[in-house]
Amino acid sequence: MAKVVGIDLGTTNSVVAFVQAGKPEVITSKEGSRLVPSVVAVDVQSEIVGITAKNQMVTNPEQTFYSIKRLIGRRFDDAAVQKDVGLLPFEIRKSAKDGIEIKFGDQWVAPEVISAKVLAKIKADAEAYLGEPVNQAVITVPAYFDDAQRQATKNAGQIAGLEVLRIINEPTAAAIAYGLDKQGDQTIIVYDLGGGTFDVSVLEIGDGVYEVKSTSGDTHLGGDDFDQVLIDHMIAEFKKDQGIDLKEDPAALQRLKEAAEKAKITLSSAESTEVNLPYITADAKGPKHFRMTLSKADYEKLVMNLIERTFDSVNKAITDAGISKSEIQEVIMVGGMTRMPLVLKKVEEFFGKKPNLSVNPDEVVAVGASLQAAVLAGDSSVQDITLLDVTPLSLGLEVNAGEMHVLIPRNTTIPTEKTEDMFTTAVDNQPAIDVKVLQGERPLARDNKVLGNFRLDGIDPAPRNTPRFAITFKLDANGILNVKAKDLKSQKEQQITITASTQLDQAEIDKFVKEAAENAQKDQLELARLKAINEAETVIYQTEKLLSENKDKVKEEDKMKLEESVEKTKTELKTVKDSNSAELANLENATKELMEALQGVDATLYQSNSQPEAQPNDGSGVPTPTNDEPAEPSEVIDPEKDNN
Ligand code: AMP
Repeated sequence: MAKVVGIDLGTTNSVVAFVQAGKPEVITSKEGSRLVPSVVAVDVQSEIVGITAKNQMVTNPEQTFYSIKRLIGRRFDDAAVQKDVGLLPFEIRKSAKDGIEIKFGDQWVAPEVISAKVLAKIKADAEAYLGEPVNQAVITVPAYFDDAQRQATKNAGQIAGLEVLRIINEPTAAAIAYGLDKQGDQTIIVYDLGGGTFDVSVLEIGDGVYEVKSTSGDTHLGGDDFDQVLIDHMIAEFKKDQGIDLKEDPAALQRLKEAAEKAKITLSSAESTEVNLPYITADAKGPKHFRMTLSKADYEKLVMNLIERTFDSVNKAITDAGISKSEIQEVIMVGGMTRMPLVLKKVEEFFGKKPNLSVNPDEVVAVGASLQAAVLAGDSSVQDITLLDVTPLSLGLEVNAGEMHVLIPRNTTIPTEKTEDMFTTAVDNQPAIDVKVLQGERPLARDNKVLGNFRLDGIDPAPRNTPRFAITFKLDANGILNVKAKDLKSQKEQQITITASTQLDQAEIDKFVKEAAENAQKDQLELARLKAINEAETVIYQTEKLLSENKDKVKEEDKMKLEESVEKTKTELKTVKDSNSAELANLENATKELMEALQGVDATLYQSNSQPEAQPNDGSGVPTPTNDEPAEPSEVIDPEKDNN
């Protein structure tokens, strides 16, 4: 059986592993290393990949390509990409399709083409090591990679000549490796601080089932940021001493970058380190040298807030998993940065228990991927693996002309399916409903991302609030969303398929979640305003309808009372609508009074009426709200507003 491999395609380093007789093994590169730097360079004649490319970075900064994972599958206009464009030394431009192109030698190529070169080297190394062709692989990506980033990673594999059997999430791969020889059920958290990103996932594992309960992270928090803090510090110190700004000098910057990473790694096992960079630059007076002694304590002070930032995501993941800190049995440390003693100390303080260091933080992701690869290849020496992942943001639709109605809350395990059948129309004889599919955490539709729109038409003429529609959201294991609307009377259906996460990346997800928290109070006020308006309009409509349909039956004094009350409610409604004000008490009182008056008249009519169709709430007449809040989820989809 041809070998299939598991590849951790990292921002900084990549690792490849395979399974031999049930045991995973990391493959050593041709240069004798288990880690292959994810670096590609073009020198005069040829392309080089891995450690040799990394080693010539200083002399060839503009044609040495690293941190490509930060760019893969992204749009050029992403804020995160814009930030990287300023920091990375090679040329980056917008492609015809709003993606990214990198000046590679004398060509412009997509990021995946460069990642493919790293994968091709890994493939060649694996073939040399195993002595046989390697044509299939499982490749890992951060949990928060969206559909475009996953697809681009898959394309990179294909360009490298690999059939990508599956793309799996890095923390899930780490959990698979950790869970290999464990018995019984466990709740674990994977804390993955790598070169470019921080990823955290809470999982329940047991008997080969890996269920992700929640996931969170920060795409711009990793070893590179730790290095950048130190680079900035070194630049500032040098400027203070020598009055020269090294920021302007790309070769000096590359040397500082290398020195910063080296100092960081040294300080993981030493109390202080010396940074010595002779001839870093020169001025009219001659060459300048950079020299600095850095203590572990000083370094730790510089990066403390980066470590603390990881706990924002950790807290979010724990809350979203619906558990408490104390229920977490093991904290699995993954990623090169978790070798830093202060990271371990802070994690221990946070969880009140020692982090689990039983897995090799650099290799565990590739090892997990290799186990999944073996299962997919039908290797019976490995226990079967079932992966259950989650959706990172809530999915829902617009209702009541502006509200977000969630069908699938964020962090729901996928695949999942949800149907609700209490949707109805907003106006009489409404011929169609528009379904606006949304993703996000905000209560108002307009603040969330529109994933797609579709229309279900051909609705038989009927009073508002009478037709019933069932809406189904189905999210498959790959994150593809299918939304279906069905008219329960005619059984007519309409549906669309949306790739739920296509245009969202981690930064956007973070942004949505953060905005939701920041705007919670404002959103609640706006939602209350919208509800008060909707409710008033509904009761006015019901009253006017009752009056017009029962002209002869309603007593004159009741009629006057209702008309007066309608006028009053209309006036208050206009005030609230015109003023954009959050002052709702007058409108709410007027609506309440009108509703009570309406209910009184309605009850009298009911008693004196022998016609069954005149009964309230019978589905064909005027529904009478039973309390101040319209019954949930008796939602109204208002086409007028949706079409805007
Ligand atoms: P990864 O993406 O998991 O390969 O992590 C790479 C990051 O870990 C880089 O920023 C490395 O500088 C960092 N790293 C590797 N070893 C150590 C160490 N011993 N101490 C601190 N950071 C390290």
